[in-house]
Amino acid sequence: MTSSSDGDGRSPATENPVLARIEAQLRKGNYLRGDDRPLPRILEEDAAEVSRLQMDLEEITSLMKRFYDEGRKALGDPVKIDDTFEVTVREDRGILACPFRDHFPAPKAIITAVNLKTGKILRFTVLGWHLIHAHGFFQGKESPFRIEPSDLKDFFE
Ligand SMILES: [Zn+2]
Repeated sequence: MTSSSDGDGRSPATENPVLARIEAQLRKGNYLRGDDRPLPRILEEDAAEVSRLQMDLEEITSLMKRFYDEGRKALGDPVKIDDTFEVTVREDRGILACPFRDHFPAPKAIITAVNLKTGKILRFTVLGWHLIHAHGFFQGKESPFRIEPSDLKDFFE
């Protein structure tokens, strides 16, 4: 039921109807708070930043996944990982559906990791992890769980 977009660039918003629908979902869910850029531009700009910083997102997101997997076993207690990180997972009941509609069911969990060597802190949700890992989406500029690519890189250095 995509209507009338003639692809003339009439609107500055997202033209790809699939992305436009996802974007509407993201705005409703507060993932784009304070960010008026169309979704494709947000994705592009963050991807450019990731490559400018020469980040290995595969490696980084697989570590984040480990933080969750190993942290949750401790049921809220902090866990040491690789002698470098201390991870605490706070898990609530319930599941969040990925707004990109790929049927990823994200447990409601907040992961707080401290890099014991630098004192830096990284805080993310399982859905936030998935959004970066699967969609290259770091959330909008003022979203509560926005992660700047540069902060992510710094944390793991
Ligand atoms: Zn997804």
